[in-house]
Amino acid sequence: MIEQLKAPGKYMQGTGIMKDLAKHVVTYGRKALYLLADRDVDLIKERIDRSYQCYQSYQSDQGYQSYHRNQSYQRYLGENESSLINNGNKDEIVHDTYCYEMFKGECDNEEISRIVDIVKKQGIEVIVGIGSGKLHDTTKAVGFYANIPVAIVPTIVASDAPCSSMSVINTKEGCFDHYLYLKHNPDLVFVDIDFIIQAPARLLVAGMGDALSTYFEARACQQSNCLLPNGSKSSDVAYYLSKLCLESLYQYGVQAKEDVINHISSIAVEKIVEANTLLSGVGFESGGLAAAHAINDGMSRIESCNHRLHGEKVAFATLVQLVLEREYEKCSTSDRNKNVDSKSHSQKEIEEVLEFCVQVGLPVTLEEMGLTSGDRDTLQRIAEYSLLDNEPMHHMGFIVTEDMIIQAMLEVDCIGKGK
Ligand SMILES: [Zn+2]
Repeated sequence: MIEQLKAPGKYMQGTGIMKDLAKHVVTYGRKALYLLADRDVDLIKERIDRSYQCYQSYQSDQGYQSYHRNQSYQRYLGENESSLINNGNKDEIVHDTYCYEMFKGECDNEEISRIVDIVKKQGIEVIVGIGSGKLHDTTKAVGFYANIPVAIVPTIVASDAPCSSMSVINTKEGCFDHYLYLKHNPDLVFVDIDFIIQAPARLLVAGMGDALSTYFEARACQQSNCLLPNGSKSSDVAYYLSKLCLESLYQYGVQAKEDVINHISSIAVEKIVEANTLLSGVGFESGGLAAAHAINDGMSRIESCNHRLHGEKVAFATLVQLVLEREYEKCSTSDRNKNVDSKSHSQKEIEEVLEFCVQVGLPVTLEEMGLTSGDRDTLQRIAEYSLLDNEPMHHMGFIVTEDMIIQAMLEVDCIGKGK
């Protein structure tokens, strides 16, 4: 049996660590390109500049001579480079340069090619993506095609994507096009809690929703002994990381949400950032996905669910997976031994997950998902999509039918309404 553990080369997390970013980025390459989004761009540029100043001071303290420039891309290309290199003391000078490039907003082939061209023309040695979602996917894809190291700096933790070795490539219009499987995970994932506590709490909560499914999906993959898309089996390490992820959510989730609402950095926030990003990221990639993400994929194709973030859909879908498992256990137990009641354990689990969702504000009813119990056609479409050949529903250890999925969604709605 082949097990595999995929993880970022280095994961760093802390409050106020942006000042140390340059110190770490330069270990991957001396010419860095920072890919930025419009949101808070001035603040982020200021923090990058400050990190290079801190690095410069650090080098001075260490007795190094260094030069740093903070220039626009065009200026960076100018004659300054040669004048520095040709000053006759090349061996004594450490050149650490950086520049910015604005992300145009869509992770499509055109945008990736545009940035790859810049990287190649300018001899960029490391790319750093500061932001979220599509910007990170673009950064990772550029690193892949240009064959340079990648650093990811999340400003929100609404999903477990930052650590993964995959990019979602869209069409120019923003529709899903394909998954790009990368050679390896980002070289560096660098999370400054200061960004996270300034972002809306809903994003942190959505990240908890994505992290909530990780243990249950890894467990399903372990039980079914299925092959994951990379050809390996669900690994024990990932399984135990996902278990730790769930424990962190239960222990710190409510407090972390409260602290982010009040923009407070705390142990609880740190634990949840780690759970949402590292534990869930490594957990899902090496532990495997199952029904929860398949049902999420089904809901993602339904327009009325569009108001929900990925992690919010995954949370609801996690409950659906647990009901499916309970129903399966019920049938198989009654076949084997009618005196044994294995329902109690799975029912308790469903109640714990439901309670957690309600406490942190994740959706637990069809209405909250933008669906209705009477609209059976839409539920049917979700079930159909989630059962497509390429969906991880097939990692469940038993046959799942459209009708079972619909019934499970209705049941989650029913128990969710009771809360
Ligand atoms: Zn996910």
